[in-house]
Amino acid sequence: MTTGVRANDIPVSFEVYPPRDLAAAGSLVTTIKELATVNPQFISVTFGAGGSNRRSSLDVLRFIKEHTHVEALAHLTCVGNSHAEAAAIVREFLEAGITSFLALRGDAPTDEEHVGEFMGDIKSASELVQLIANVQSERVPWTESHAPGSDRGRILDPTPGRVTIAVAAFPNGHPESGSTRRDIDSLLAKQAAGADFAITQLFFHADDYFRFVDKACEAGVEIPIIPGIMPITSHSRLMRVVELSGEREPSELSIALQVEPDAVGRARVGVDYATALVDKLVAGGAPAIHLYAFNRHDTVLDVVRGAGLR
Ligand code: FAD
Repeated sequence: MTTGVRANDIPVSFEVYPPRDLAAAGSLVTTIKELATVNPQFISVTFGAGGSNRRSSLDVLRFIKEHTHVEALAHLTCVGNSHAEAAAIVREFLEAGITSFLALRGDAPTDEEHVGEFMGDIKSASELVQLIANVQSERVPWTESHAPGSDRGRILDPTPGRVTIAVAAFPNGHPESGSTRRDIDSLLAKQAAGADFAITQLFFHADDYFRFVDKACEAGVEIPIIPGIMPITSHSRLMRVVELSGEREPSELSIALQVEPDAVGRARVGVDYATALVDKLVAGGAPAIHLYAFNRHDTVLDVVRGAGLR
């Protein structure tokens, strides 16, 4: 599948995470300002991952809103919350002026007492999609154009009062799913709940993405599925990412990172690999590109420019 869309018309977005200390907060400010220079569709901020909390996510989202022209998109997870607690969190974000969300289930606890147990009332991302839409409709009177999913195909909806809800998708399968069909059923459930678009887990081969998108479309998924790409510039990070995501180790990238003796060379290896992947995705018709920035602007901006996206 190829399209006539020029690479520099493709929407780009970035993911960052809340800083762990004051020094990291200072460098995140620079990162966000640099990322904003290429006019991304949005910058998303993770939630609850790596020891962060909702206060630190909100601080970063507010900074994006107040100091850039870029849409701030909040990740939200629902594991461990009662219905009332989750609704209160959603309300707090909406009151801070956040209207774009990535609704996630999150992961079950790993501590011995509760391992694998999904505590709380909301058990899946699709329920959180519904909850976000319901909380917003209590605040803003409902109209046809505010209905979740009412403007499918647009990645962000500028209609005042309308929330945009993204969800996660897993081209190579969620580690718990056991089959592609289950992942597609889950995406269909999220679409039915009102999701506007999906962002994928990172992957290393364009074919994996296109195979998944084709199967999802055949099964009735209509929302755009945006590929999530992570430029990886060290072998240790690659191993960590492979462990956390359950992705297969990409042998070509893995060997290239191991044989390259210096850090500048390894950064080039990671950027070149991600750029080649983005080139294939854009040529094959991906609707947008989402880049996991790891709170650094240099590598992702090298990919954006290297792939001719800006
Ligand atoms: P769900 O879609 O609810 O379920 C995950 C899987 O369970 C499905 O793929 C499917 O296999 C199965 N399943 C669930 N419902 C159904 C159904 N109705 N029918 C069939 N199968 C079903 N985690 C964080 O803690 N904080 C973050 O900020 C964060 N950001 C992320 C950003 C992206 C782009 C991605 C891809 C993941 C992110 N995660 C984050 C990780 C995410 O929370 C985990 O992957 C979690 O295990 C699953 O969340 P989910 O929203 O995909 O869950």
